[in-house]
Formats: sequence, C-alpha cells, structure tokens
Amino acid sequence: MAENEKKLSRSVDKALNRPWELVCEPVRVAPHIYYVGNTWVGAFLLDGGRDGLSIIDCTVAPAFYLVTESIRKLGFDPSNIKNVFLSHSHFDHDGAVQQLKALSGATVWLSKEDDEGFRHNDAILESYRLANLGYEPDRYYSWGEDITLGKLTIRPVLTPGHTPGTTSFFIDDIDESGRKLTWAMHGGVGENTMTPDYFRSTGLPESLIETFIEDCEKLKSIHVDICTPSHPGHSDMLSLINEDDRLDYTPFMDEGKWASFLDQRKAIAIKSMGW
Ligand SMILES: [Zn+2]
Repeated sequence: MAENEKKLSRSVDKALNRPWELVCEPVRVAPHIYYVGNTWVGAFLLDGGRDGLSIIDCTVAPAFYLVTESIRKLGFDPSNIKNVFLSHSHFDHDGAVQQLKALSGATVWLSKEDDEGFRHNDAILESYRLANLGYEPDRYYSWGEDITLGKLTIRPVLTPGHTPGTTSFFIDDIDESGRKLTWAMHGGVGENTMTPDYFRSTGLPESLIETFIEDCEKLKSIHVDICTPSHPGHSDMLSLINEDDRLDYTPFMDEGKWASFLDQRKAIAIKSMGW
C-alpha cells in the first residue's frame, strides 16, 4: 500500500472509531465563515445572519458531534442550520447528513452529477465500501446560479475529477468595513481517486482527470482572497491559525494562494496518474 493510502486508512479508522483523536477547535476563516471540521476532514459554517446558518459538508457520522460542539463553542445553535451544501458524495463529507437532517431539518444540496452518475453506481459502491446512501438530496445545484444568504453570496461551480459531480464553492463575503472578500474551497482534490487503478476498477472515464486539470487552469483566473481546503491536510491551513485569537481570519488572507494551491494539486494529480 502506498504511503498516502496508509495515511488515508489511518484517518478513516480514527474518524470512524476514535473521532476524539481528531478534535480541532473552531476557527474563523472569513468574516462570516468558520472552520468547524476536524483535523482530517473539513466542514465550514456559513453565518447567513437572518437567513440562518448553513454548512459546507458535515464530516462522518461518528465525528459529527465534533461539528456541533464547534458550532456551539462559536456561540451558534446547530439546530439553526438551514442548508448543507455537499462538495461531493464521499462518506467523509456526506456521512453525517442523516444526523444533521434529524437535528435541524436542513435542506440537502448535492450536484445532480454525483447523485445520478456516481452515488448509485454499483461498481463504485463496491469499490468504495464506505459510501453512504442513507439520504436523498433535496436540491441540485443550478450551475451559474448564486445563492444569497445574509452577507454571503455563494457560487457553486461544477469541478469534476475527484468525483463526476465534485462541486467547488466561491463565496463573496462582506467584512465589518463593507469590503468584499472572496473565499474559495475546491470541492475535491484528493489524489486517491485519480489513479489508473481506480479508473480500471470503477469504470469511470480517465477523462475526468483531464477535466480536473483543465479546470484548475481556468479556476486560477478567479480572484480569491482566502482559500481553505476541503481536507486541512491538503494545505498548511492549520499552521496558519492565530492561536491567540481564533476569530482572527486575517492570517488566511493571501491573494496568491489559490493559484499556487491549484498548481500544486494539478501536479499531484498528474503524478498519481503516472503521466
Ligand atoms: Zn472525496
């Protein structure tokens, strides 16, 4: 087993069996966006003011209590989560949807591409035994259509590669002085599904990776002030935290980071495909 596969299976084991080993105190990453995930997989709380709370991804079921604890520590009530915006249908991001739904009745958003072309594909479920089908999405993203919640304007963008319907998010946020800041999260850059073996075993087309690489180039042209990854280990996010003030998001502001992150992840995908 390759080193990154071993690392992934250790993280999966912890998340499912010893989630307390993955505790991460919450941190503000943009004026109205907070990291409420664990040290392995991300979840981002969106404070939509009068429009309530929303969340991007919700981690795995056994670790979901860490998400709700983080939300409470920030002074918010997790039962006020109105929407969950899923980046893709892998259990580490959507595994806790049922708990979230039971807690708050949140509307579940997923791409049509992951729901129809991926989530119910037997060959993929077989190869990916931890897939979670215990929920149905309520809404599909409409590409090109923004979702406005309080001071946040959310733009979901289809970015296939890691899965056919991987969705990335660009969010325009407004700070205390009225300045607009754009935050972004690529929905899936994990190289574990970008190997020739994976494509052989699942029957998914290798062209997904060509699309991923082309999209990385296109996405680079979007101006992003703050980018944080869907798994904290995909960048140096956790090391940037101001430990004296976790509500200080300024350490994450870096206009050049988005392009360099995409370049780095593109190079990793090319390498894992053996190209
Ligand atoms: Zn994934």
